[in-house]
Amino acid sequence: MTALPEAPALSSLLPAAESRLPQMLADIERVVSVESPSDDLAAVAAGAAEFSALIAERLGATPETVVIEGVTHLRLRFGTGLPRAVVLCHQDTVWPLGTLDRLPFSHTDGVIRGPGSFDMLTGAIMAIHAIAMLQEAGGPEALEGLSLLVTGDEEVGSLTGSAFLRAEAAEARAAFVLEAAAGEAGALKLARKGTSIYTIVVHGRAAHAGLEPEKGINAGLELAHLLPQIAALGNAELGTTVTPTKLSGGTTTNTVPARAQFDVDVRARSTAEQERVDAAIRALAPALEGTRIEVLGGINRPPMERASSEGLFVRAVELASALGIDSPVGVEVGGGSDGNFTAGDGIPTLDGLGAVGDGAHAEHEHALSAHIAPRTALLAALLADQLAD
Ligand SMILES: [Zn+2]
Repeated sequence: MTALPEAPALSSLLPAAESRLPQMLADIERVVSVESPSDDLAAVAAGAAEFSALIAERLGATPETVVIEGVTHLRLRFGTGLPRAVVLCHQDTVWPLGTLDRLPFSHTDGVIRGPGSFDMLTGAIMAIHAIAMLQEAGGPEALEGLSLLVTGDEEVGSLTGSAFLRAEAAEARAAFVLEAAAGEAGALKLARKGTSIYTIVVHGRAAHAGLEPEKGINAGLELAHLLPQIAALGNAELGTTVTPTKLSGGTTTNTVPARAQFDVDVRARSTAEQERVDAAIRALAPALEGTRIEVLGGINRPPMERASSEGLFVRAVELASALGIDSPVGVEVGGGSDGNFTAGDGIPTLDGLGAVGDGAHAEHEHALSAHIAPRTALLAALLADQLAD
């Protein structure tokens, strides 16, 4: 175990974070006010541009803009060579354009609201300020070996972001994920289930539902056969859930549907369970003669197992005690994050370091401002710890 960073530097982190709180709140308002739903690439680019400008103001360096298949990501690397520590943030949200009109940014009685406030714009701002604090205290050398990523497609499975961040973290000794904490105690996320995402398309044949329905092959009926089979693939004992989600099909009220489809969300604690479900889904056979089943998608994020976070979590507890803040607790959660990718690659990963609050992807999404300064100080301490030699 390495020595704790020098006591004076460590003791200055909490006051430094507290003095930054008004600026952090203003920065959160600034980025919440630029809507960036993952499926709107222009909006994601606009959100990234706002982040880029903000990062340049706070850190005195402009991040690289990396566009992959139309998705805009940001990377700010300090020093040369592959980084030793990576900070993972995303700025895309699940909220469609116009949500701000209904749910504008607000900060009242210590509660921050607005689309993406909890997941995970507050965390991203905390990351920028934690890095700024280290720069302020130790100059640019203090950041040597650090990389900050702000990606743009996390909420839709990081289809382009995953390769980008895995390459960046390839040689890292630690990845810190600024996703929101779990629960009111602000628990860090020590293990996450792996996720798989499928779209199952049923192909039948259209016919007039009034004139000659017998000439059609009803894709909707086939879909109805498939749903319970899919739902039965879960295993409660092993924590595997298999949930049919978005459903659609047919064209008009008087046409036998030629096509129907549904999405399936799979969560599992082990790669073996992910693979079992994957094989079962691919083996589905049609019940109605003449229909064809097409399976799109597959295993998305591997599970993040507890072993990958244990060492960093122990360190976080030690550093919290040295900082004089509440000791963090840790939990296992179902939702996946980009931490699953780095953990899957064997990189020690600590997740859930961002906002404390509630309501990810829900109308009551909010972050509690009282937790921002202590958690920013903790992140700064963790980064200093990994970057110190
Ligand atoms: Zn998130």
